[in-house]
Amino acid sequence: MKKLFLLCFGVFLLCNLQGQDFDKYFTHNTLRINYIHSGSALSEQISRVEFHNGGCWYGTTTHLIDPFNYGELLLEAFDATTGERIFTRSYSCLFSEYVNTFTGQKESADFEECINMPMPKNPIKFSIVSYDRKRNATTLYTGNYDPQNTKTEPYVKEFGTIDLHIGGKSENCLDILFIPDGYTQADKKVLIKDMKRFAKYVMECSPYKENKGRVNIRALLAYSPEHGVSDPNENIKHNTLLNSSFNTIGSDRYLMCENVWRMFEVADDAPCDAILVIGKSDKYGGGGIYNFYAEVSSDDTYSNFVATHEMGHSIGGLADEYHYTDGTDLDSGFFPEGVEPVEPNVTTLVDFNSKWKDMLDEKTPVPTPVTEEYKNTVGVYEGGGYVTHGVYRPWQDCSMNIIKYNGFCPVCQRAIVEVFHYYTNEKIK
Ligand SMILES: [Zn+2]
Repeated sequence: MKKLFLLCFGVFLLCNLQGQDFDKYFTHNTLRINYIHSGSALSEQISRVEFHNGGCWYGTTTHLIDPFNYGELLLEAFDATTGERIFTRSYSCLFSEYVNTFTGQKESADFEECINMPMPKNPIKFSIVSYDRKRNATTLYTGNYDPQNTKTEPYVKEFGTIDLHIGGKSENCLDILFIPDGYTQADKKVLIKDMKRFAKYVMECSPYKENKGRVNIRALLAYSPEHGVSDPNENIKHNTLLNSSFNTIGSDRYLMCENVWRMFEVADDAPCDAILVIGKSDKYGGGGIYNFYAEVSSDDTYSNFVATHEMGHSIGGLADEYHYTDGTDLDSGFFPEGVEPVEPNVTTLVDFNSKWKDMLDEKTPVPTPVTEEYKNTVGVYEGGGYVTHGVYRPWQDCSMNIIKYNGFCPVCQRAIVEVFHYYTNEKIK
């Protein structure tokens, strides 16, 4: 507790120098808004909203209005007296993937979601806004929070942590937290070994390895009642800390966790800007949702690739650069004609200036042919974001396209580094 207090105090001193607006509106604690996001493609609702004190705030103190907006949801907070917009945070959710499934077209389902923001000093109004792929906005929820009067669940420390890579002070770094799932007390040695292995996977991958001073990685020493994650298609059901399971929304290799509220609650025990859940399994799988969390199975041959690829989604807001070569486009509505996608590594050429045009050699043709001549060249290659035509990717064989560890293209690397700058409070382009 004493250590925690000192850390908070350190944050306060630093941020006083850096972000006057931050100290005008916020304390250095975290407010977490938990809610249930439910519905189907036909309609959606937010309900059961509750508030938690999430302990110290380790997020940005200067980029209070989200500079990226890559997500489908946006939390907006307004000073209740002046109406001034004082904080926004863009993020994505599993719900928006569910509604694109066959079941989600008509059957309603409930999903736990949550979003963190710095604790306001004074009453705020807030809204949760949903954006469709054409960036039409719908306000899903509006509410009020008064730090003096609104019921707020207290922060309770539960788990210890281990440091795996410390690049700097938490208030000025991207803090990645590994949460093990499906490791029992008897697995303690294996847990520590696995967490160290994954820290190497991340820190030996560009652009993390060139930005060692901007990144911290820690792991929670958190145990599960039973060993291994659930796999419904193999009739395996295990009781674990976060109830991680394959076959999320009916996709066999999609490994995510059911207990999202619990995940964010345990993550309060360490500085945490980004979560990677490491689920004990030797089956290929994982998933990553922007500014929400990523998960990976612990012992597959490609776990190093999957971990960094999924963090490309969850941290970098990157799109998949692959497409289906047989011409079966996954969902033509995902990248509507005439709309520039929000993701930094795909373009429809509607607003290419806002993407990687500045990284393109003037001799490189647009579109760029997928030939040996342009291998390892930033270009505009047709096919990406699951579709064959009309969406373009910047590289022939980036880690967001094929199973290749440590192969993020220059455009994806730049996007990830920009996110580092968000957390390090450096200038963003
Ligand atoms: Zn890329």
